[in-house]
Order: sequence, then C-alpha cells, then structure tokens
Amino acid sequence: MSVERCDVLVVGGGPAGLIAARELATARPSLTVVVVERDAEVGAPVRCGEGVGSSGLSEFLDPTHAPWISRRITRVVFRAPNGSEVRVAEGDVGYILDRSRFEPVLAAQATAAGAEIRTRVEAVGMRRDGNDWHVSLRAAADDDRTAIRARIVVGADGVEGRVGRWAGIDTRVRARDMESCAQYVVEDDTVDPDAIVLHFGDRVAPGGYAWVFPKGERVANVGLGVLGLRAEGQSAVQWLDAYIASHFPRGRLTSRTVGGVIVAPTLRATVADGLILCGDAAHMINPLSGGGIVNAMKAGRLAAQTIAQALDRGDTSAAALAPYHTRWMRLLGDDHVRFYEVKEALARFDDTFFDGLAVTVNRIPERRRTLGRIFASALVRHPGLLPVIAKYFV
Ligand code: FAD
Repeated sequence: MSVERCDVLVVGGGPAGLIAARELATARPSLTVVVVERDAEVGAPVRCGEGVGSSGLSEFLDPTHAPWISRRITRVVFRAPNGSEVRVAEGDVGYILDRSRFEPVLAAQATAAGAEIRTRVEAVGMRRDGNDWHVSLRAAADDDRTAIRARIVVGADGVEGRVGRWAGIDTRVRARDMESCAQYVVEDDTVDPDAIVLHFGDRVAPGGYAWVFPKGERVANVGLGVLGLRAEGQSAVQWLDAYIASHFPRGRLTSRTVGGVIVAPTLRATVADGLILCGDAAHMINPLSGGGIVNAMKAGRLAAQTIAQALDRGDTSAAALAPYHTRWMRLLGDDHVRFYEVKEALARFDDTFFDGLAVTVNRIPERRRTLGRIFASALVRHPGLLPVIAKYFV
C-alpha cells in the first residue's frame, strides 16, 4: 500500500485543530497541512453550551454581526442553591455561539489558507517510523483503511482523545476530575435573552453547576455538569430532568446532548517527539468554569507557532517542541492550577455557605460587584479559604 505524506497531520476538526491548521497554513503556505475529522461535518453534532467571553473570541474572529453568533450576552446571574440571585456583570460579557456554523467558518478559513480538511476520516492508530509518524486512517463511509506519514501530528481529538496515549503520554483522568454533562435546547417564555444564568447547589448539580445560555429570545441551552462521585448514583440526565421539571416545567425540549468535561489542570506533558496535544486532548479546559473553546483556540495558535519554528529548523524532537508547553503554562496553564485549587476548596462548603455568600454579595452595590469582591466576601465568611485565594491573586 502506498503511503501518503504530509508535513503536519491534525487529528480532530474542533476549535483547537481548526485554528492550528488555519494559523499554520497561513504562516507557512508551502507546508502540507491535513486535518482529519471523524464526524460527517465539522461543528456537528454540538455537545456544548456554546458560551464564550468576548475578548478571547475576538482574538480569532470578528463577532460583529456574525451569522455564527446566536446571542450577545450583557449580564451574568449567579443563582445560589436556595434560588436567590446575584447579578454580577453588565456590559460586553460574551456570546453564545452557534457552533454548527462557527466551526465551518474556521474550516473554510483553514482551507482558504491552504489546509486540507477531510471529514468522515478517523485516525485509528499510529506508530513512530524514523523521524515521522505513520498514522492509520479509516474512512467512515466505506471502512476503507489508508495511512499517512506526517512529520508532526497535532492531537486535537478532544475529551476522548487517543492520540496522546498512542504517543506514550499519560492522559488518564481521575474520576474526581471528570464532570458528566447533559444539556437540552429548551424553548420557554421565561428565558432571559441577554443573561447567562449559573446555578449552584448540591441539590441542583452536585460538584458542578447548571447553566442557562440563551440562544434566542425564548430559547436556551439548559444544561448541567455533575461530579460522578457526588451524584448519588444519578446520571447527569436525571439531574437535568429534575432541574427542567422545576425550572422550565412548560419548556419545550428540542434536542439533548451528553458529554464529559475534564476539570483538572493541563497534562504534565503536552509534547512528544513530532507531536503536540491541544485543547481538551491536553486537558486545557478552565477547571473552575468548565469552558474550553477559547482555550482550545489559543492552544491551537501556540501549537502552529511552535511547529512553524520547529520545521524551519528541521528539528521536530520533543525538545524542539517543548517551548509550546512552557508558553501554554505561562499563558493559562499556571492559572488553571490555581483555579483547580480554588475549585477543590469551594467543594468543601455546603449549600448554606453559598446561600449566605449570596446575601453578603448582594449588599455590595450592583455596579461594584466584581468577581474579586465576591471572593473577598467569601473570605470574610470563611477565613479558611485564605491560603487558596491568596495564591489565586498572587
Ligand atoms: P472538540 O471540540 O471536542 O473537537 C475534537 C474533534 O476531534 C471532534 O470533532 C471529534 O469528532 C474529533 N476526533 C476525535 N477523535 C478523532 C479521531 N481519532 N480521528 C478523527 N477525528 C477525531 N466550553 C466553553 O468554552 N463554553 C461552553 O459553554 C461549554 N459548554 C460545554 C457543555 C458541554 C455539555 C460539554 C461536554 C462541553 C462544554 N464546553 C464548553 C467545553 C468545550 O466543548 C470544549 O472545551 C471544546 O470543544 C474543546 O475544543 P477541542 O477542539 O479541544 O475539542
């Protein structure tokens, strides 16, 4: 069997892989960059709340009047376990994407820059062959097996990624660091079209939170994440069904999705010889919020920059790619270690603490209510948080 060749093979056509391909093809038009995506289309099916912050998103695409934006968000509402609300931000908070249109735009840009995107193609294994990777591919349509040799592989294959493991990287996730999520798209008159709602509580979503992310005037992604170890034997779908029954009893449910979110710091190793891991595959999700879209794109961009330099020098060893890991940790990875500690500390408090915190925070005038002041209030209520929060601010 003749084996095809490329310079860079990107496994996974999500935000991480598409940005890596777009940036690399733009920076070095002479390189052959191939993206394989096992699904029939990029961007579908959507397994995501689709919420992103404005500034992070704008680093990659202009959201003004973009058809891939479902909704602009101007307010954040935290809901305490007992249902009392704390309004935090007013202004340019972020957006709810339409990922089924967003990722196709990234794919079109990557293609226009010279990358090739192949859908319905799955990477099924790989081995080192000299200084290259020999990657086995399977076409979903006809189960046809082919192979491709790549000087560098980008593992952007998401939360269930296998590329890192194939390259010998320890990608295991502890059960306590994996949230199970479920989400419905809900049509309901009570949806606030301008606000995202984050609802905490052991009776709402143990170990995680429930979210209401509006996609239109009367439609929202309503979902939640739970930590399996604290979920009392109930699945995320069961917790979500209970949430919908009490908060959207007349809501019309139009679609359902389930998925996992890794709420742990970045993997200790994100590179190997001829290999870089990006996005969820490298555990680059914010462990406090569970958000990973913009992080994945930032990692994809860093990967492209590092790969371009490594190929310029003709050195694709792990040592040549190591600056990627260092730069990621400086950019966000070190913050994630602190966020993880804050998350662990907060997990020790019960619903009464959060109900009390809502009362304290609501005494702060709304326009002065920042996340920093909320943390400060939490400290006053519980000085035991000091060591963790001090680290967070340092
Ligand atoms: P993905 O988007 O998962 O892309 C990986 C791609 O690789 C997939 O398309 C997959 O089909 C493909 N693939 C996998 N294996 C192979 C293979 N062997 N061969 C070929 N292709 C392969 N983040 C936010 O920022 N905001 C949110 O509101 C939010 N809500 C979420 C809600 C839920 C229910 C879940 C589960 C996650 C949510 N996230 C959210 C997290 C977010 O979805 C991810 O962090 C983000 O998609 C990561 O991008 P990625 O490119 O790393 O991986």
